[in-house]
Amino acid sequence: MEAMNHQRLTVLLGPSAVGKGTVVARLMELHPQIFLSISATTRDPRPGEVDGQHYHFLSRERFLQLVNEGAFLEWAEVHGMNYYGTLKAPIEEALAKGRPALLEIDLAGARQVRKQVPDAQFIFLAPPSWEELESRLRGRGSETEEQMARRLETARVEIDAANEFDHIVVNDEVDHTAAKLACLMGLA
Ligand code: 5GP
Repeated sequence: MEAMNHQRLTVLLGPSAVGKGTVVARLMELHPQIFLSISATTRDPRPGEVDGQHYHFLSRERFLQLVNEGAFLEWAEVHGMNYYGTLKAPIEEALAKGRPALLEIDLAGARQVRKQVPDAQFIFLAPPSWEELESRLRGRGSETEEQMARRLETARVEIDAANEFDHIVVNDEVDHTAAKLACLMGLA
């Protein structure tokens, strides 16, 4: 990713159930010019998720083929279960057109992007409290106990790494949080 305005690239990390999806949806409503990266994943679609819109849902074989081709800016095995990755080409294209680009990825992915694109901006979306996060995660009810335990453990590790990020934004209220993110992306 040479000769691009990397300051227009923002990486957003937030533990499962922190409300990242809602905040990002609000941000996109307010600023539709943002290019929101659609990740590739090997996990199964949840009810209502659309291929090419929420994720590019790929087989493990196809995913690993793309890894070998060097198509990913970053990729990681998340929650020890499935692969997730950011395809390079659409991001390069968006940045070349001058659009701000936003990546929602996990900690391992964010660290890879930090190495490859050090002047990108890294934002951590934090819950108002750990208790709140846990109750939101349990309230979602879309996962088994085992999956939820994994997600809670991942969230703990992510929260411990929050100070590696350029900014920590507490998701207290969706409009307020979306406005803060827009401001950090130079869009407010
Ligand atoms: P979910 O399965 O709930 O949609 O996402 C699980 C986790 O995968 C989230 O924490 C999210 O940040 C992470 N994730 C989603 N897309 C990517 C990606 O492209 N790369 C990496 N490294 N992580 C991702």
